[in-house]
Amino acid sequence: MATLSKRRPENQVGPFYVDSSCIDCETCRILAPQVFGEDRIGSFVQKQPESELETFQALQALVSCPTASIGTEDRLDLQEAKASFPRKIADSVYHCGFHSKSSFGAFSYLIVREEGNILIDSPRYIPSLAEKIKSLGGIRYHFLTHRDDIADHEKFHQEFGTQRIIHEGDLSSLPEAEIVIHGNDPYSLAKDLVILPGPGHTKGHSTLLYKNEFLFTGDHLAFDPKKERLIAFRNACWYSWEKQTESMRLLEKYDFEWVLPGHGHPTHADREKMKEMLRSCISWMESR
Ligand code: SF4
Repeated sequence: MATLSKRRPENQVGPFYVDSSCIDCETCRILAPQVFGEDRIGSFVQKQPESELETFQALQALVSCPTASIGTEDRLDLQEAKASFPRKIADSVYHCGFHSKSSFGAFSYLIVREEGNILIDSPRYIPSLAEKIKSLGGIRYHFLTHRDDIADHEKFHQEFGTQRIIHEGDLSSLPEAEIVIHGNDPYSLAKDLVILPGPGHTKGHSTLLYKNEFLFTGDHLAFDPKKERLIAFRNACWYSWEKQTESMRLLEKYDFEWVLPGHGHPTHADREKMKEMLRSCISWMESR
């Protein structure tokens, strides 16, 4: 729970506030961009919600904040905001909300498919979220892009009997994984799902391509809305920048319209625009 006595002085006067425990994960600024702003320290309330929509988005941010750093002066009903997750992004792809501190507030996603749903990376395990996922068909596979974002995988495994998938390069973080990806060749999990090993951020980082349309990128690739370009995190590359650049080049062979990253904005563009942005990202990486 956020603490009123630790309220950041930068918050605009009013009911919503961010306290000093914020880890600057960006989640609130993505979910409620009108309300939450950013400074050198992290997030703060730049404008109190004025409309019903802004209030609802601020409450979605509050329940998703990995460190419970967002508070309200008076107690507000959170049921509707909690029940809104997983929230649909497009087609059968959902954002799970309830970000976890252990994955530095990374986004996690759910793909709903007749052949079995897939959870990508891990939200906090919250009973109401688990119930909602049950109503959407449960979870067959739990794909972990890399070692840092596995959070509550064990609780989801206990509840849903998930088959956890990780690359051998990051297996030490999840030795109990039921499916292990070996080597650097694409791994076809189903006709509409391909796992693309992409070492760089970590040794065993992989991305997941769904329907040649949605690319779940973990910490490999993200989008910078201010510069309107695809980016990679040079200062958060734990294994090899050269390998990450090489892995990025391999993505040029694939078509996709969505980049769904662990950190940053879920982003849509047409295929040509995505290819252009990917090429520009690779050139930038080669120059670093
Ligand atoms: S979601 Fe929470 S931790 Fe993340 S930036 Fe906002 S206030 Fe900070």
